[in-house]
Formats: sequence, C-alpha cells, structure tokens
Amino acid sequence: MYVAGSYDCVVVGGGHAGCEAAHAAARMGCRVVLLTHSLDAIALMPCNPAIGGPAKGHVVAEIDALGGLMGFVADQTFLQMRMLNTGKGPAVRALRAQADKKQYQALMKKLLESTPGLRIIQALVTEVLSDNGQIRGVRTHYGAEFYAATVVITAGTYLEGRVVVGQASLQSGPNSLLASTGLSASLGRLGIEMGRFKTGTPPRIHRRSVDFSQMEEQPGDDIPARFSARSTRERRAQLSCYLTYTTERTIAIIRDNLHRSPLYSGMIEGRGPRYCPSIEDKVVRFADKERHQLFLEPEGFDTDEMYVQGFSTSLPEDVQVELLRSVVGLAEVEMMRPGYAIEYDFVLPTGLSLALESKNCAGLFFAGQINGSSGYEEAAGQGLLAGANAAARVLGRPPLVLLRSEAYLGVLVDDLVMKGVTEPYRLMTSRAEHRLLLRLDNARSRLGEVAAQYGLIAAEDYQAIKEEDEELARLVAGLSSRTVPNCDAVNQVLQGVGSAPLTQAQTAAALLRRPEVRWEHLAPFLPEASSMSPSLAMRLEVEIKYAGYIAKEREQVERFLRLENRLIAQNINFGNIRGLSNEAKENLTLRRPHSVGQAMRISGVSPADVAVLLVYLEGR
Ligand SMILES: Cc1cc2nc3c(=O)[nH]c(=O)nc-3n(C[C@H](O)[C@H](O)[C@H](O)COP(=O)(O)OP(=O)(O)OC[C@H]3O[C@@H](n4cnc5c(N)ncnc54)[C@H](O)[C@@H]3O)c2cc1C
Repeated sequence: MYVAGSYDCVVVGGGHAGCEAAHAAARMGCRVVLLTHSLDAIALMPCNPAIGGPAKGHVVAEIDALGGLMGFVADQTFLQMRMLNTGKGPAVRALRAQADKKQYQALMKKLLESTPGLRIIQALVTEVLSDNGQIRGVRTHYGAEFYAATVVITAGTYLEGRVVVGQASLQSGPNSLLASTGLSASLGRLGIEMGRFKTGTPPRIHRRSVDFSQMEEQPGDDIPARFSARSTRERRAQLSCYLTYTTERTIAIIRDNLHRSPLYSGMIEGRGPRYCPSIEDKVVRFADKERHQLFLEPEGFDTDEMYVQGFSTSLPEDVQVELLRSVVGLAEVEMMRPGYAIEYDFVLPTGLSLALESKNCAGLFFAGQINGSSGYEEAAGQGLLAGANAAARVLGRPPLVLLRSEAYLGVLVDDLVMKGVTEPYRLMTSRAEHRLLLRLDNARSRLGEVAAQYGLIAAEDYQAIKEEDEELARLVAGLSSRTVPNCDAVNQVLQGVGSAPLTQAQTAAALLRRPEVRWEHLAPFLPEASSMSPSLAMRLEVEIKYAGYIAKEREQVERFLRLENRLIAQNINFGNIRGLSNEAKENLTLRRPHSVGQAMRISGVSPADVAVLLVYLEGR
C-alpha cells in the first residue's frame, strides 16, 4: 500500500455519471481526482449512439443549464440531430442527437483534462476506506490509497459484470472491458444493500452489407437545434438513420430458439429494463405483432459499424446471424459484434438521501447506473448532482436538491430515492407531474439561479439568462397589444395553414393562440421577430399559446409545495399514530420522509394514511 494523494473529492468511474460528477465538483472549486479503470473508456457509449429524446433530452438541457458537459459535447460531435414530437405539445418536444461515439469520448476527455482542479488517473478501485461511518478514501488494485473527505462512486454496469451470449458467459464489463471486482464486497461490508440488474445491447453490422434501397431513410433536421446555449447553430454534414422491419421468419427463428436464450433458460437472474426489451422479449410479450420496427444507426463518421436499434439480444451468435439475415434489407449482412446481455450489481437507491449520499456512510455518494437507473442522460444528471453535493459538503454548503416541480432531475432522484427500483429505471415525460413547466426551452430559466448560487455557471451566464427572461416578459406583454393588420398577406398565410382569415385587425397574441398558427407564420409581420433567437422564439410561442395551461400547472405546483413544505420531525414514532395502516407504519419508519409530500411518494402509503398523518401533525 502507498499513499497516492489527498483530495477534496475522489470520483470512481469515468462514464457519463463520473465525467459530470468530477467536472461539477472541480467547477465548484474542489481538488478532485477521477479514478477510472480505462482512460480509453471515458464517456464510452456501450449501447445506442443516441443522446436525448423524450425526457432524456430535457435532462440534457438541464445538465447544460447546470454547467454540465453532455449537451455541449453532443452538439459538437453529433452525426445527426432531430427535434422529435414537433407536431405534439411543447412538454414532449425533445431533441435527440446521434453522436459520433469516438469523437464524443475524445472531446469529453479533452474537456476534463483541461478542467482546473481536476486530475484523471487510470486505476481500478477495489475498496472504499471509512472510519466510524465517515468516508476516508479508496484503495486501488495496485495498492494506491487516495484520501478524501468525499467519494462519488459511478461504476455503472461494471460491478461484478457478467456478459452472457447464449449459454456462454464471461466475467466482463461492456465492450470486453475489465469487470470491476471487489468493490461490491467492500460496499457490502459498510452495510450498503446491493441488487442485481441486467441490460442488453444489439449486434453491430457492417454498412457495406446493408441493402438501404429496402429501407426508409431518416435524415436529420436541416439546421438542427442545439442542446447547449454555448453551441452555435449552423448547417452541418449529417448521416442518416434507416427504418426497417423484422419479418415472419425473424419471429419463427426466435420462437424456435427461445430454449437457447439465456433470458428464458434461467442463465440470467438480473432484472432488465422494461422499456428497452430484447427482441426475444418483444416476440414473447407482443405475440400478436407480425413485425417489429428496427432503426439502423451509424456509430461514427470514421467507421462502417452500424447499430441495430430495437434488436437487443443475447441469443447464441449463430442464431443472431440467422436472425439478422431474416430482417428486411439484411439478407447479406456481416455481423461485426454480437449482441449480449450484461448482469451487474447496483446499490439500492432507497439507501441514499436526496443528495445521493449514502445513509450508511457520510461523505460517500453514488450516481448513475449503479443507483438502478438506465441511460446515459439519467446517469450524467445524477453525476452532476452527486458531484455538486460532494463539493457542497466539503464547502459546508446545503445540498443541491431539485424538486419534482423544478426539474426532470428532481423527478429522477426523487423517484429513485423515495420509491426505489424493481427494474432499471428509465426517465419518461409521463413520470413528471408538472411536465408542461419542465420544458426543453426553459431549462436555463428554471435552473440558472441555483446553478449560479452553487458556482456551477459564471455570473455573466446567469446575467444573460435573466436578461432573456426579462426580454421574454416584455415580448409577451408586447404581443398582447401589438396588432396584426387585416390584409391580404396575413390572410394568405392564415388560409395556407387552414386558419380563418381576419375580418379585422387582431393582436399577435390572439392569433398565436390559434392552434394552427405557429410563430414562423406571424414572424414576417412582426418587427420583433427580426432579431429574435430561435430559442427565445420557441419560448415566446409556448408562453403565449399555452398561457392558460401553464397558469393551471403553476397552481398545482403551489398545492404540491404546500405538502412538500409540510415537514415531518425525524423523531416521530409512526408506530404510535392511530389510524395508520401497518404497511404505512412500517415503510414510513424505514424511510423516514422529511415532508408530507415525500411521505405520499413512499410505496404502501395510501391517501388515507396521508390524511391521518396530516391530522396527527396538525395536532402536534
Ligand atoms: C450492454 C449495455 C446495454 C445498454 N443498453 C441500454 C439501453 O438500451 N438503454 C439505455 O438507456 N441505457 C442502456 N445502457 C446503459 C447505459 O450505458 C448506461 O446507462 C450508462 O452508460 C451509465 O452511465 P454510468 O456513468 O452510470 O456508467 P458507465 O457508463 O457504465 O461507466 C462506468 C465507469 O466506471 C468505470 N469503473 C467501473 N468500476 C470501476 C472501478 N472499480 N474502478 C475504477 N473505474 C471503474 C468504468 O471504466 C466506466 O468508465 C446499456 C449499457 C450496456 C453496458
């Protein structure tokens, strides 16, 4: 053993969570060391090359608003960028990038290498060091000891990783990287409860072996939007994705080989993500479906490898090749990497506080897939919060905890910590009660103040956010009195979108509230539009068009906050509260909620229990 150094914060793991955790803690002024077992695997995307999409894209915008890196790096390295759900309401409009995986990794590593106060070291951490319930540091496989006041563990899908293909398995992390052995046992010795999950990935195929003429091309947006306010928006070379389908033959092959699937032979114990099912699961669960959609996604500008989205599998390799050849356009396919399933250990997130700190060991934080979530974005968001909270602890500041009404990140952490997980947790817009307020376009406005307070963004960046908010308020007020003339040019546009022509002048706001009228239809008639940024225009349209719904949503948030701020003393004996169900007494005692709002979200606590609790608290 040797002492390799003392820091304010040690981050274990250079995946999506670890990168954001290390960066956030260093930005807040801490001396940070990032220990990861392969520098070449920093920010690796072991699964799909996509960043963003519904709810995940919102999280990327929130990470950017909190000074994080994922959005900016995705903007610089995308192969393709698309705004999804443009025909639907603003709450579900979401940006999604197909990233060049290698460029994404290289830029993320470069940005971390140039972050002041951050050191990056290749090392395999096998043990956490603690004293009387307080973290002291970590030890590596080669005997180095790193001491620190805080440690953030973001070991992802590597903890006791086991890769399975057919009846064969290997102790391994993703992409044939080393599994992380020893650390789970060390965490277990601290009384930290662990579980076992699994996830899977599809085969990769060679572009030259694909017959694209049988597929539907899916190009990117012409001048795509960007995740980060730091990125410029211009036309760029993009690669397309391709839509294809499985056939009856595909389904027959799967049915004939289910007995060879490790998922159905009992070889895999870990629970998998419901919303990213394997192709085997889809055939079994949706037996009535004649075919399944698949998307071929390029993995990089400088590679011919393509990802077969929707074809995750751990069937034996020979079956995988036969299956691929049964897909429309893949009769001559060359498989470059087989699909596989990976089982890994995770930490039960109910053992954490809302700051993502372990209840078993002060100063020890967890973030990412290790907390039972699934997805690059969910991991990166947790990483940023855990890193910021480790730094806040060092700096003697209160933890950075976002509410469900403030951010998808608040929904994510609250769901994990308060409700726990029975399968890998994936964020979706339907999980957010107040999603109309948690939009892509207003992430900076929602989180700018707290980001500036914690030193995650510069004061001048926050100033710019405030100025945009003031500008927006002026524009909303202005358009409510700005009239649009009743003239041929205007009526031509209105009729062009199937909207009734004007019979007299109307305010721009009134016109914008018409369902079929969008900002781009009115912009030519409004001088304000000439100098407006696309992001401000998007916000303006939403604020005017959905003003009524937004006001209602804000009232609901008021109600939510009243219960959220109804605090519960930590020394209450729930067992003595008459009228509470036994299940509620048990779970409330186990989880010790800080507020009535939190109590409501604990499984087994019914609305009747909440009513009893409220009366009891009033009595006290
Ligand atoms: C096969 C596969 C399929 C997936 N499929 C999907 C999917 O379909 N949908 C989806 O949303 N997500 C999927 N994911 C999950 C997605 O990859 C993860 O959610 C995301 O990468 C998690 O980020 P993370 O930072 O928590 O962990 P990871 O990205 O796994 O990074 C962990 C990091 O920790 C390092 N590390 C681990 N142990 C140690 C140690 N002891 N010492 C030092 N360093 C260590 C590793 O080198 C790595 O850099 C899949 C992942 C895999 C592996």
